[in-house]
Amino acid sequence: MSVNFKDHIRVIEDWPQPGIRFKDITTLLGDGNVYREAIDQIRQLVKDKQIDVICGPEARGFVVGAPLAYALGVGFVPIRKSGKLPYETIEASYDLEYGKDSLAVHKDAIRPGQKVLIADDLLATGGTIATCIDLVKKLGGDVVGAAFLIELSYLTGRQKMNGIDVVSLITY
Ligand code: IMP
Repeated sequence: MSVNFKDHIRVIEDWPQPGIRFKDITTLLGDGNVYREAIDQIRQLVKDKQIDVICGPEARGFVVGAPLAYALGVGFVPIRKSGKLPYETIEASYDLEYGKDSLAVHKDAIRPGQKVLIADDLLATGGTIATCIDLVKKLGGDVVGAAFLIELSYLTGRQKMNGIDVVSLITY
């Protein structure tokens, strides 16, 4: 199946604040064939990395990371906003393209030495993913890559990845 994924992204001007051109992925997710093809193509790009577990930040990281984990037959670890996870966590705070936030992961979610792929819907400034990488490394995980549906290359988030392999399907 040959798909131009960009055709399935809706761009919303000035949301959630003036000057932001928000990339709305719900239009892609709403088309079963396109959603499946997107996950399949990401799977092809990462399948040789010997991934043990996929981590994704809430909420849109779940939408990419969980089906990818299922397709690869590996586990999925949710990274959540502080206060949402029931067991003991480690936490880290970070800046967003707009705003500030704090992320947490269960302290036993990753075993030392496990190969971890981090997945999210979109790479903007890279702050979110740099924080996820931090959390995974604190638990002793080995981050073998980061995968996204969309990369906003003009925000140069890739440069925050410290050489970690980044794959994305759509670039703006
Ligand atoms: P970063 O931390 O600046 O790389 O921002 C990435 C995070 O912000 C991701 O978790 C995205 O879900 C969210 N985000 C930022 N801009 C957009 C957008 O235009 N569309 C959808 N999500 C966005």
